[in-house]
Amino acid sequence: MSKIIYMDNAGSTRVRQEVIDEMLPQFCEEYANPSSVYSLARKSMARIDGAREKVAALIGAQPREVFFTSSGTEANNWAIQCIANTHSDRGKHVITSSIEHPAVLNTCKHLENIGFDVTYLPVSSEGLVSPQDLANAIRPGTVLVTIMFANNEVGTIQPIAELGKIARDHGALFHTDAIQAVGHVPIDVEAQNIDLLSLSGHKFYAPKGVGALYIRKGVKICSLLHGGGHERGLRASTHNAPGISAIGKAAELAQLELAEETSYVARLRDRLTDGILSQIEHTRLNGCGDSRVPGIVNISFEYIEGESLLLLLDHKGILASSGSACTSGSLNPSHVLLAMGLSHEKAHGSLRLSLGRYNTEAEVDAVIAELVPMVKRLREMSPTYPRG
Ligand SMILES: *Cc1c(COP(=O)(O)O)cnc(C)c1O
Repeated sequence: MSKIIYMDNAGSTRVRQEVIDEMLPQFCEEYANPSSVYSLARKSMARIDGAREKVAALIGAQPREVFFTSSGTEANNWAIQCIANTHSDRGKHVITSSIEHPAVLNTCKHLENIGFDVTYLPVSSEGLVSPQDLANAIRPGTVLVTIMFANNEVGTIQPIAELGKIARDHGALFHTDAIQAVGHVPIDVEAQNIDLLSLSGHKFYAPKGVGALYIRKGVKICSLLHGGGHERGLRASTHNAPGISAIGKAAELAQLELAEETSYVARLRDRLTDGILSQIEHTRLNGCGDSRVPGIVNISFEYIEGESLLLLLDHKGILASSGSACTSGSLNPSHVLLAMGLSHEKAHGSLRLSLGRYNTEAEVDAVIAELVPMVKRLREMSPTYPRG
């Protein structure tokens, strides 16, 4: 394949070489079942424990509060389904937001199908949940509040500590899908009043298919997967030792380099945003000016279809997204942008460019230079574009 410019880091990330180096020996040398008793297996289990410490350190947790899963989606399902079920004797009400990832939204829909009542909080035009709205919606039967840390389409970061405190003050547990935040912004589960937190390796330079759920010590929860006694009896299945070592290494590197990487990526993001907004008219940045992750740029281009732009970009080797990978290809406009009050037309004309540690200033400039004529061409073909 010829050279590509990858700007879909919110969809998935390239695995870091240091992370691959950590995994590789576990395929052909340390391949035993980590739960076996012999020393080769104990070596694997020691690596898993080391990874647990590193993931815990990244989010301010204790190692025994971190449970490995097969994905971010599994962590979300586990937290939401099993907290709801375990605590349903106290009530059957769950609160979430209207801009969650499908892994949360559709799990909440499932809860509704089995008799739970779910409140979907609205968001502001910047994508922010209002703590006052949460305080108004919460009631004695609310067992769980689940609100994402950072949105995957527009990057808005929620006032997590405040939301968590409201949940706690009312006796509800607070879960956050932090899959777009972990490794990209500082997180402290203690200071931010978080009871459960989901994370996923492939969003911060580890491979796909490994994630974790943080469960605060003392929080009662049942198993989603039943089987052997892995993960202290709470999550059955033979440990994915290579994947877990990988996520541990990625967490260690993320913690070491967080400040440096954040400022590098944010600088690229601002250059990209400023370039597009200043050189292409009828554009606007979707999201929140000051509370956002470093890497995500979501822009509406009026009078064009985001999907057409994606195809032209792909033709030039520029890989982006029209929002979430899960809704790309469907003709429905993004539920996130609609919840933020965008018209169907503006939501359809949106493009997400998400940056990461492997992007460069030269790539940003190349993307801007390609976008200018592309948008012009698409608008010339648009029947609604005002001419003259
Ligand atoms: C990617 C993502 C998920 C899903 O994680 P997987 O590990 O791919 O299952 C869930 N929530 C958010 C916010 C995401 O960005």
